[in-house]
Amino acid sequence: MNKQTAKQVNMPVNMPVKKVVIAGGGTAGWMAAAAISKLLGKAVSVTLVESDQIPTIGVGEATIPTLHILHQLLGINEAEFMVATNATFKLGISFENWKDLDQDYIHSFGYLGQDCWACGFHHFWRKGLDLGLVSEIGDYCPEHLASREGRFAVMANQDLNHAYHLDAGLYAKFLQGIAFKHGGERVEGKISQVHQDNHTGFITAVTLDNGQHVSGDLFIDCTGFRGLLIEQALHTGFDDWSHYLPCNSAIAVQTETVGAPVPYTRSIARDAGWQWRIPLQNRTGNGFVFCDKYISNEQAIDTLLSNIEGKTLNDPRVIKYTTGTRRQHWNKNCIAVGLSGGFVEPLESTGIHLFQKAIVRLLQLFPHTGIDDAIVDEFNKQTQEEMDNIRDFIVLHYYQTERNDTAFWRHCANMAIPDSLKHRMALFKESGRVFKKAEELFGEASWVQVMMGQGLLPDQYHPIVDQMSEQELANFLNRIKQNTSKKVASWPSHIDFINHYCRSKMMT
Ligand code: FAD
Repeated sequence: MNKQTAKQVNMPVNMPVKKVVIAGGGTAGWMAAAAISKLLGKAVSVTLVESDQIPTIGVGEATIPTLHILHQLLGINEAEFMVATNATFKLGISFENWKDLDQDYIHSFGYLGQDCWACGFHHFWRKGLDLGLVSEIGDYCPEHLASREGRFAVMANQDLNHAYHLDAGLYAKFLQGIAFKHGGERVEGKISQVHQDNHTGFITAVTLDNGQHVSGDLFIDCTGFRGLLIEQALHTGFDDWSHYLPCNSAIAVQTETVGAPVPYTRSIARDAGWQWRIPLQNRTGNGFVFCDKYISNEQAIDTLLSNIEGKTLNDPRVIKYTTGTRRQHWNKNCIAVGLSGGFVEPLESTGIHLFQKAIVRLLQLFPHTGIDDAIVDEFNKQTQEEMDNIRDFIVLHYYQTERNDTAFWRHCANMAIPDSLKHRMALFKESGRVFKKAEELFGEASWVQVMMGQGLLPDQYHPIVDQMSEQELANFLNRIKQNTSKKVASWPSHIDFINHYCRSKMMT
């Protein structure tokens, strides 16, 4: 079949998109419904179908700073959103026992020190290390230091890079309110059938188990791991990444809060995986991500329950998954947003970011006059690149470890990794250089913090550093460190700030 014929088969001529149907009402579904209703609601109708019989996955409570982009588009007031979702602030992630047992580091959302045009701050810090002039690199980054000291503030002219810990169920409800306000509709019912055009294979409608028929021009699959439309109906295919990311199971449990919430997520490496702790205002989310080749579900539940604080509020739930990505995130007139599109790992809290990015990308490429192959290809290309970059960043945490105390960690340290990651690590080791690819999520500061935190130190620093005398370098490093420490010391504690700014109604 030549390209021209393929194009005709894939593209129903003169089919403007007027009706958008979203299947699934978890974080992804309501995020899509809120954004499309608010931003394109005068041009298209939005109907979300969800089933009360099928619960949402109920995890996904740590975010990254890119969430601000969506919140700005939706006109969300930060304090209102935080009250509604029992949210706390997040300045980064504390990685404990990842490099080796009893060794911790923080990947903060901040920038390190002061860069120059030729190289990042870590080159100056690296020479300072040789000369005994520096303390840990986090002392030169306000977000890092504030995490360690449990402080937080949002202030004019001080751009502290922050994200949130939030209650996923309440967040979906909050977004639902925005969708309804802008004309979005909800239909309750279990989708039992997906109808496709005989000629094009495009999805034309879904039928619910009560017989109701919901037709549309564009379908967004937010049905979670099921991938009801993108996979079960369209058989799009899945690239399995478990050879790079071996964890395939998670257990989640909520506990009562003990002590003041910290302004960071905790990620604690265990014998066959890692444990998360996500502090909300009214409770703590806990989970254990593991590989079931190395530990049974029962042993994993024991591991989690013996490493939590506070009374449990629900029974532990086991979630099974395969890491990887859908071969096309947009296939025919169906776009996968959420877990239906694939899953990298919760380690760097990139799930919600990816949903949001897919929605913004769809809005930018919105096929209002009809679905064109060029639009679909562009969407898929951008999504694939983004997923590959995030995958490499996550694999780095597992592979670059000095742990060899268990079979799981020995496997991780010896597994084959993508060539793209191999290149980044070699470049950094040899020369301290790291470059952010265009449109890549994680920037230089993130790569540097994780590579050095995991024990990969550059052998050299950039020669421009030698333009400073030793005394000048010492003054430069000390000045940044003192300013950072002074700035952070002026901020209130995280909990005091929350109590003044966004105290949840559940706490009063
Ligand atoms: P779901 O929550 O599973 O929602 C699926 C929806 O589809 C439901 O409404 C259901 O009713 C509906 N549905 C399904 N079948 C049908 C049907 N036949 N008819 C009608 N409706 C149907 N991301 C982050 O950003 N941060 C994190 O900290 C994070 N942690 C995670 C931890 C784990 C263990 C996992 C697995 C994922 C995590 N994620 C995280 C990723 C992701 O953010 C969450 O999992 C997210 O909440 C998933 O949302 P979803 O909307 O894709 O799917």
